[in-house]
Amino acid sequence: MKKDDISNIKVLLNTPKKIVIVPHKNPDGDAIGSTLGLYHYLLNYNHNVCIIAPNDYPKFLKWMPHEASILKYDAQTKTCNTIINQAEIIFTLDFNALNRTGDMEAVLAQSDSIKIMIDHHQQPDDYAQFTYSDVTMSSTCEMVYNFIDFLEDTSKIDSNIATCLYTGIMTDTGSFRFQSTTSNTHKIIANLIDKGAQNAQIHNAIYDTNSFNRLQLLGRALSNLKVLPEYNTAYITLSQEELISFNFEKGDTEGFVNYALSLERIIFAAIFIEDQKQKIIKISLRSKGAFSVNAFSRINFEGGGHTNAAGGRSELSLNETVEKFISILPRYKTALNNE
Ligand code: 5GP
Ligand code: MN
Repeated sequence: MKKDDISNIKVLLNTPKKIVIVPHKNPDGDAIGSTLGLYHYLLNYNHNVCIIAPNDYPKFLKWMPHEASILKYDAQTKTCNTIINQAEIIFTLDFNALNRTGDMEAVLAQSDSIKIMIDHHQQPDDYAQFTYSDVTMSSTCEMVYNFIDFLEDTSKIDSNIATCLYTGIMTDTGSFRFQSTTSNTHKIIANLIDKGAQNAQIHNAIYDTNSFNRLQLLGRALSNLKVLPEYNTAYITLSQEELISFNFEKGDTEGFVNYALSLERIIFAAIFIEDQKQKIIKISLRSKGAFSVNAFSRINFEGGGHTNAAGGRSELSLNETVEKFISILPRYKTALNNE
């Protein structure tokens, strides 16, 4: 962040303000961790702070401190519109294009409040007065820690803030194993533990609360796994019918795509999940090395994200989407055989 921006934000935050914090639609651990971490920090200064998520999030995130105070835009649209229209400052966290908030896009776009973006995805849009965008960062939670550090205020980090930021760094780095995990990430994590983040408990709350149905669904996903050796690619499909037969709950498919990527020699993995309610196929893409799934998704599946993790969508049927995916691969054959 620029020095000028930091001093201007310091002045802004010097007096109590009406503040709204927004994560992206279908928020993940980093989105909820960063918004709650910032929320707890701002409450120190008597701001009137409200987190508005576009929609609900998985059960495995519903233990985080003050998580229950998060409003869901799709369930409480009227109240949320009033709060957004009265906001003096809107923080947008873990996304960089307003369309990532789904139905909230219009009200956010027309709001004349000051917007502050904190985000680590590629190709940020230009909607915020203050943009802290850094694609080298492991997570938005790491950036919220830095943001508090820029304000020279890490002494205010208590166990609630530490717990939330730890959680998002852990989930976005695949428990500190992705390339984006730097020595600085580990230094921040060490500080967060010193400030009260209970690392073993957090890991347990996120990863060791599987339902029997989820593990059965994982079994089905793995038996649907297909490999395309000539492209070092593997993919998984899950139809709506399969999801229903295992009593699918939000978040159950989180991480499934990583099993496809864990196959030897595979550097590109995809999962295609049918969503009959939204009438789309939700796509998650993962890669290893230089092959950019962000670019692949932007060009072919109306999505985006990071070099090695991106999402996208398709309005074709599940079968047609897979056929489209397979038909595109020859264009990427060289890139997929260069790693
Ligand atoms: P996931 O596959 O876990 O849903 O998402 C992987 C990464 O890509 C996350 O950082 C997520 O924020 C981003 N992402 C997922 N879906 C989309 C999308 O439709 N558009 C963009 N720009 N990014 C996405
Ligand atoms: Mn993130």
